[in-house]
Amino acid sequence: MSADLLIRNRWVIDPSQKLNGGYDLVISDGRIMDIVTTDDGKTNDGKTNEPVQARETIDAAGCIVTPGLIDLHAHVISESTQLGVRADSVGIEQGVTTLVDAGSAGAWTFDAFLKEGVEPSITRVLAFLNISGDGLCRGGAELSDMSRLAAKDAVTLIREQPSIRGIKARMSASVVKNNGLAPLLVAKQAAREAGVPLMVHIGNAPPTLSEVLSLLDEGDVVTHAFHGKQGGILDVRGQLLPEAESALARGVLFDVGHGESSFSFRTMQQAKALGIAPYSISTDVHARNLNGPVHSLTHTMSKFLALGFTMYEIVAACTSAPAKVLGLEREIGTLAPGAYADVTILRRETMPIALTDSEQETILAKEAVFAQQVITSGKVLTCT
Ligand SMILES: [Zn+2]
Repeated sequence: MSADLLIRNRWVIDPSQKLNGGYDLVISDGRIMDIVTTDDGKTNDGKTNEPVQARETIDAAGCIVTPGLIDLHAHVISESTQLGVRADSVGIEQGVTTLVDAGSAGAWTFDAFLKEGVEPSITRVLAFLNISGDGLCRGGAELSDMSRLAAKDAVTLIREQPSIRGIKARMSASVVKNNGLAPLLVAKQAAREAGVPLMVHIGNAPPTLSEVLSLLDEGDVVTHAFHGKQGGILDVRGQLLPEAESALARGVLFDVGHGESSFSFRTMQQAKALGIAPYSISTDVHARNLNGPVHSLTHTMSKFLALGFTMYEIVAACTSAPAKVLGLEREIGTLAPGAYADVTILRRETMPIALTDSEQETILAKEAVFAQQVITSGKVLTCT
């Protein structure tokens, strides 16, 4: 078998195929061609390995190979919002092959997303479109004026633009002001009409979390699910809110969306003790949290290692899980033959490291995850 690239002697973790072991990865024409177990000389489907003649071979034992990491919540429109960061700086340069800009752009500012987010980037950049026509491009209370909601234009644009994978609505008091649940109802209606999931930001009430959760359906995403503010998923006794329990049972997905004020070690530890894990781990990286507490997706992954999650669980939450939210699980977030050859090569290093959450709480951890190399559609790049 001849191929463009062979990645050898690596520990592969690919939760989409329930793989966690020694495999070689064969890449050709920007796609995964084959994944071959190195233990018994058999391919994944039981056939005997053919020797691979590859033009390029990567061999660095001791690393972990995963599907290209996906960050489901980031902000990469830098000029129009003064909030976003350059996509490649938090994307491929940090081992993240796919970034989702969560609501920086609305239907009326979508050109800025294409110009500032997509066009200059090697990273695959997708979007959740803000239900506000302005997105975050004009200040921070984008759902306070119902006349600026752009449901019809959002639905039209989603049908035209495959890079839009969902709708975003920020449901906290500072964003909706006196509008209560009304913007959420508009956003939900538009999402159902366009056939895409809804991502809802939660924060300070009103509206209350119970009111917000009761409107969400299977496949919708709650971002900032593990924040440490009052009125979160846990009550004062640390018990799960009944509405959160029934939302989880319905298939509503809890995303991390770390951010500058939206991830608490304490909340996550209490939730973990109740058997609740995040469905997806995302950063909400933007200009104000890039230099702390967020830094990068791999830094966020290190925090979950420190909290006692397994590497397999963490990789699933950064690959197969977000790919499913995006409806792209056959193309990205997987190393199955035929998928895009998006691959991240990670190092798990034993070292003392201080990890800080959004509540300024610090854990002194003993190990951290770093991105070493990334392959995007078959092209090999070294991470910074
Ligand atoms: Zn955000």
